[in-house]
Amino acid sequence: MIEDRLTAELAEIAAAGLTRRRRVLETPCGRNATVDGKKVLNFASNDYLGLAGNAEIARALADGAVQWGAGSGASHLVSGHLAPHEALEKEIAAFTGFPRALTFSTGYLANLAVTPTLAGRGDAVFADKLNHASLIDAMQLAKANGADVQRYPHNDVAALEKLLAASSATRKIIVTDAVFSMDGDLAPLPLLFALAERYDAWLVIDDAHGFGVLGPQGRGSLAHFNLPAAQRILLMGTLGKAAGVGGAFVAGSETAIEYLLQKGRSYIFTTAQPPAVACALSKSLQLIRNGDALRASLIARIAQLRDGLAGLPLKLLPSPTAIQPLIVGANEAAVGLSKALWERGLWVPAIRPPTVPKDTARLRISVSAAHTAADIESLVAALKELA
Ligand SMILES: *Cc1c(COP(=O)(O)O)cnc(C)c1O
Repeated sequence: MIEDRLTAELAEIAAAGLTRRRRVLETPCGRNATVDGKKVLNFASNDYLGLAGNAEIARALADGAVQWGAGSGASHLVSGHLAPHEALEKEIAAFTGFPRALTFSTGYLANLAVTPTLAGRGDAVFADKLNHASLIDAMQLAKANGADVQRYPHNDVAALEKLLAASSATRKIIVTDAVFSMDGDLAPLPLLFALAERYDAWLVIDDAHGFGVLGPQGRGSLAHFNLPAAQRILLMGTLGKAAGVGGAFVAGSETAIEYLLQKGRSYIFTTAQPPAVACALSKSLQLIRNGDALRASLIARIAQLRDGLAGLPLKLLPSPTAIQPLIVGANEAAVGLSKALWERGLWVPAIRPPTVPKDTARLRISVSAAHTAADIESLVAALKELA
């Protein structure tokens, strides 16, 4: 039977207790979710500013659809690049401080457009070991194009420098998450930028979890570190997390962005996002820019959670961001804790290997500006009781 091997592999996944299941939400993304009629507090989304359910953005999306229709009809380079896309690109460029930006349907596609397009035969890619799966796939594509790929231990700048010093590659590309998605910690971007300057390398930064959250007006991790929008930097940001809608961008120099537009296969060979999504994102960008109050409440909730969990026997990773990982260790224990919380109406996902290293299964608590102090209090109380 053609399916036999698939069935056997699925059985192996099940036997290891690693089957993934989707929960169907009966309510929009927000601080509360209803699943199978059960109401839970949602600590599982990346909706850090609570914008996914924002009424003004939903209105901009609806108005955009009425004005511009449902779909873009083609890829950007054929006939799918409409005025709302063009406007959004300009707004993102201005907001991030780069000369130019390109928008993508997803962050996954944005990452696939950068590293493998810049790196081919004779070039070398240097990637943090804890980079997001989409950056890893991008690195593998670069490898298939003939690039040498090297992974350095997480945030280990000295190890990276050794690799750079030993490399004779024509073009060197350093690739990193700005905020690591399963640990919540920041990359040492000023040090990485200094290395990029010293070794004449590109610095590709994935700011999926920093954009909208970090830096003045939510301009992201570069702004947080007061780094310039330098020619050698390509900044990727996703628009489905703090921005609350969907899609992504890459910002950079005029030339680098033109190069991606001409050569990035995951930019060229895919249909442009519906123009209404660009309309919604323009509104979202405006709310992010004026969102100091949202960021202040997010920061207050993060501090409240960290204070509350300080005495727990489980280790809370030293994360300053909305991603707060509580290390449990064994897979079953992490899943058990997540289940017990769920029964108490608290949705906190357990993350297991291979998504995270072996023996570091964890609860990944996502804090949002939409959470109230009482929400955080209930989570802290439940964890104190269960842990
Ligand atoms: C979510 C995420 C992506 C992918 O973005 P999508 O828009 O969801 O495809 C890329 N990089 C990181 C670090 C992420 O967390």
